[in-house]
Amino acid sequence: MSDGRQPVIAGNWKMNGRMPGATATIADLAARLATRPGAACAVVICPPAPLLPVLREILGANSRIALGGQDCHAGTSGAHTGDVAAEMLADAGAAYCIVGHSERRADHGEDDRSVAAKAVAAHRAGLTAIVCVGETLAEREAGRALDIVAGQLDGSLPDGATPANTIIAYEPVWAIGTGRTPTTDDVAAMHRHMRAHIAKRDAALGDCRLLYGGSVKAANAAELMAVADVDGALVGGASLAVDDFWPIIETC
Ligand code: PGA
Repeated sequence: MSDGRQPVIAGNWKMNGRMPGATATIADLAARLATRPGAACAVVICPPAPLLPVLREILGANSRIALGGQDCHAGTSGAHTGDVAAEMLADAGAAYCIVGHSERRADHGEDDRSVAAKAVAAHRAGLTAIVCVGETLAEREAGRALDIVAGQLDGSLPDGATPANTIIAYEPVWAIGTGRTPTTDDVAAMHRHMRAHIAKRDAALGDCRLLYGGSVKAANAAELMAVADVDGALVGGASLAVDDFWPIIETC
């Protein structure tokens, strides 16, 4: 955690969460946050899109918990079966939207260009884009991690990105859902490299929050969050149950 940037702890529920379990989880999380009014971090939950309005209703307008989408289409409306516009996420109560998650890049063939277009859409709708980048295991083992991530940042961050409307999540693909994490030295090196790289493009961008994601859990969160240039976490599996997520929130 560093330099006056407000940390963000974001939960990515992926395709998990049914009613009534999801409503109970969010109510429990909200109740626990209410006992900790001084908590410094922003807390974001990104549930499956159909849950957004229900969770928004439970949380109320001024909740400490913000909601986010997990993806959006670049357009505003039209013949795009199955897609959701960023404006629709905003209507449903979202303030954030993840774009370019490696599961979207892999499962739906999203490339940097389409990720940048989705980030533009998020901004257009008034959402903060959480832009995901990260190398595969083969790329890391080939010593290319820093270059791969720099290239993804170049291609995925749109013009108009600012620290106010954009958060970057570094998620090594090989660490997602595997229980494996990079060493803290590797995380520090990557985050330092990312910050320097985006600051070269635009000095102001260098102040974006940089989250680490990939097998963050209670047992490793404090260590990861203490790394310089890590401004929070994007948490998958450990965000599904409040008992697992809460200790991560408590690191900041
Ligand atoms: P994980 O997922 O915490 O389950 O590894 C992180 C993510 O995909 O955002």
